[in-house]
Amino acid sequence: MKYFDYVIVGGGLAGVSAIKGIRERDGEGSILLVTKEVNLPYNRPPLSKELLLGKEDVADIFVEDDNFYDQKEVAVEMETLITEVNPDEKSIVGEDGKSYGYGKLLLATGGYPRKLDIPGGDLEGIIYYRDLEDYKRLHNLIETSKSAIVVGGGFIGSEIAAALNLNDLNVKMVFPESYLLEKIFPKELARSVQRDYEDRGVKILSGKLPEEITKSDGGYTLRTEDGVTSRGDMVIAGIGINPAVDLCKEGDFDVFEGIEVDEHLQTSCPDVFAAGDNAYFPYAALEDCVRVEHWDNALNQGKLAGRNMAGADEPYDYIPYFYSDLYDFGFEALGDVQAHLDTFIDWKEEGKKGVAYYLSDDGKVRGVLLLGVWGKKGHARKLIERKECFREEDLVDAI
Ligand SMILES: Cc1cc2nc3c(=O)[nH]c(=O)nc-3n(C[C@H](O)[C@H](O)[C@H](O)COP(=O)(O)OP(=O)(O)OC[C@H]3O[C@@H](n4cnc5c(N)ncnc54)[C@H](O)[C@@H]3O)c2cc1C
Repeated sequence: MKYFDYVIVGGGLAGVSAIKGIRERDGEGSILLVTKEVNLPYNRPPLSKELLLGKEDVADIFVEDDNFYDQKEVAVEMETLITEVNPDEKSIVGEDGKSYGYGKLLLATGGYPRKLDIPGGDLEGIIYYRDLEDYKRLHNLIETSKSAIVVGGGFIGSEIAAALNLNDLNVKMVFPESYLLEKIFPKELARSVQRDYEDRGVKILSGKLPEEITKSDGGYTLRTEDGVTSRGDMVIAGIGINPAVDLCKEGDFDVFEGIEVDEHLQTSCPDVFAAGDNAYFPYAALEDCVRVEHWDNALNQGKLAGRNMAGADEPYDYIPYFYSDLYDFGFEALGDVQAHLDTFIDWKEEGKKGVAYYLSDDGKVRGVLLLGVWGKKGHARKLIERKECFREEDLVDAI
C-alpha cells in the first residue's frame, strides 16, 4: 500500500484548492489527488453559462494548467473511484482494489445530481447536468435539435434554459414552484424574472410536477401530474444535488445533510477533513450549521482545509458569495438568501439595479442579494457581521 502524507479524494474546486493550502505551509509532504473524473479539476459555473453561450472554450475552464500538479509535486490518479475509507488504519480503497495510506485525508467529493424518481426518469439521453462530459453531450445536441425541455426552476435550470433560448431552441421549463427561483428571490423579483423569460419566448410550466417521461421518434414526451404533455428533442434536468457522503460508512463520521465538520473543517474522525459541496459546517456569521453549494465556498474551504491539514488550526469564518447570470441580469448573493425570510429591496433603478436584504424576525441582516450592483460584496459582508437590528428605512442606501 502506497503512503502519502496528504490524500485528497475529489478533483473538484475544493480538492485543487486544498493542494494550494497544503503547499502554503508544507513544501515537502507527499500529496495524492484521486478523482473519478476523466478531466483535471475545472470550474463548473461556465458549464451552464459561458461555454453554452460561446463566450469561453473548454480549455479556459480548468482551474490550473496541467503543469501545476507536477510543479506542486502532486501525484494524480484520474478515473479512480474511491469506495472505502478506513479511518482506523488510515487508508482508502479504490474500486480497482488499490489502497493508499494517509497521514491526513480530505473528502472533497462534492455531490451527485438528483434524479427524477418517476417512470422514464432514467431513460437514456436525459441529462442530469453536473459535469464537463454533460456539457459536451448538450453542446452536440444543440447542433442537431430544435427544442428542449428543462426540468427545474433553480439556478442551473434557469441558466441552461436562458442559454438554450439564446441558441435559438424552443425551450419549455417545467418545475413545481409557482415562479422561477422562488426559493431565493423575493416574490416580486421572481415574478419579474419569469416575465422576462416568457417575453423572450421561453414557455414556462410552473406549479407542475413531472410524472412520466417517454421516448419516441428521437424525442421525449414529458407528462406532468395534471396530465399536460410537452414534447422536446432533449430533456435536461437541474433539480439539485445530494452530497456525496457514501465514503463515511466506516468509522465514526457524523453525517447530517452532509459530512459534519467543526470550524476547522475537521470531521468527527481524527485526521479526516471535508470541504466544499459535501461539508455541513458551522457558519460563524449566521450562527447556524449549513451546507453550501457555491463555487466561492469550495474555493475557500478547500484552501483552508489544506492549510489545516498541514497544521494551521485556523477557523473557517469566511462569508462566501455566489453569483449567477440570467440573460443580461447578473447578481451576487451573500449569507442566508432564502425567500421565506422577510425581504426588502432597495431599488437603485427600478427592476434593474438594487439590493435585496433578507432579515431575521428581529431585523438582523442575514443575507444580501446584489442585483446588478457590483463591487459591494465587502459592504454586504459587514452588514451581515454587524448582527444589529435594522428597520427598512435604515437600509435605504446602506449599500
Ligand atoms: C452547471 C453548474 C453551474 C454552477 N454555477 C455556479 C455559479 O454560477 N455560482 C456558484 O457559486 N456556484 C455554481 N455552481 C456550484 C459550484 O460549481 C460548486 O459549488 C463547486 O463546484 C463545488 O466544488 P466541490 O469541489 O465541492 O465539488 P465538485 O465540483 O462536485 O467536485 C467533487 C469531485 O469529487 C469527485 N468524486 C466524488 N466522489 C468520489 C469518489 N468516491 N472517488 C473519487 N472521486 C470522487 C467527483 O467526480 C468530482 O470531481 C455550479 C455548479 C454546476 C454543476
